[in-house]
Amino acid sequence: MDMNPLRPVILAAADSPRLKRAITGTKVTAGIVRRFVAGETRAELRPVIGDLLASRRLISVDFLGENTTDRGQADAMVAEYLSLIKDLSAAPRPDLPGIGAAPVEVSVKLSALGQALPVDGPAIAADHLRAVCAKADEAGVWVTVDAEDHTTTDATLSTVRELRTEFPWLGAVLQAYLHRTEADCAALSGHGSRIRLCKGAYREPREVAFQRASEVTDSYLRCLEILMRGEGYPMVATHDPVLILAAEQLTAETGRDIGNFEHQMLYGIRDAEQLRLAGGGVATRVYVPYGSQWYGYLTRRLAERPANLAFFLRALVSK
Ligand code: FAD
Repeated sequence: MDMNPLRPVILAAADSPRLKRAITGTKVTAGIVRRFVAGETRAELRPVIGDLLASRRLISVDFLGENTTDRGQADAMVAEYLSLIKDLSAAPRPDLPGIGAAPVEVSVKLSALGQALPVDGPAIAADHLRAVCAKADEAGVWVTVDAEDHTTTDATLSTVRELRTEFPWLGAVLQAYLHRTEADCAALSGHGSRIRLCKGAYREPREVAFQRASEVTDSYLRCLEILMRGEGYPMVATHDPVLILAAEQLTAETGRDIGNFEHQMLYGIRDAEQLRLAGGGVATRVYVPYGSQWYGYLTRRLAERPANLAFFLRALVSK
């Protein structure tokens, strides 16, 4: 079966300006946005991350935005990240025995930092990422670069490789639905390499990506095994019980130190499972998005669950 038969349809429809206007302009939206997005401003974000850290979960904060084609917007994005890192450095950190991970991380999308600008995009994004990493380094905060659609994978991994010479703790994300990812995992499983493994959230053609749920799960399992048997620091980003169990089994089988990998989940999804894992003493990080540009992020979350189709239909009729 396809990952979710409605997923490509919802993701395609989400590109329509009419649907975007309908969704962003209706009352039914507010509640569902709040489920997945911590707030629109840093002031709204603050209590959410305070509660997560107090519950012994680690955090990765994402300032929402993507596909910037305006230099001013890319510059503004960097300025917001610098202020965010300053705020995060002041947040009380949990005492987590045996866990060496930085409790606080930021996640960034290179397309928000200028990668898609028409002139010198990748170089501008790399300079912006360097500024974010330098500030994060001072503050004891980690940075991980999100994975976007497959047309950006080479450019993004090459920027991460370049910057890891200055900031060895810089993390990257690999998407198990891409055919290439097993090879990328093998190449990036060396000492000190922080890799977040996820299934992948974009609409991708069958030439580059597995389409069936079972193929994506099998690919994830192969990739996970490579990372768990490697020398890096795997970040197991999934809510799927089968994959979480596989990570637990591989930890035991490979003798990997419990402090040398982490589970990751998204804000608003499987909260009880997040608490169960954190309560068992394993590093468990929650990816927390905030900001006013939540539309792309929200539609990817809604497309993951067929039950959410009703939400789209309600938004359209109540317009
Ligand atoms: P699924 O099979 O989709 O879900 C398993 C179970 O989790 C479901 O049965 C359900 O119980 C629950 N669940 C999953 N999604 C939802 C939802 N939206 N609403 C309610 N319940 C849900 N993707 C990228 O392409 N690039 C990235 O950089 C990236 N970063 C990520 C960072 C983190 C920390 C995480 C957790 C995910 C990230 N993703 C990213 C998204 C990822 O690729 C998947 O789209 C998403 O995690 C759903 O896949 P799953 O592994 O949870 O499995």
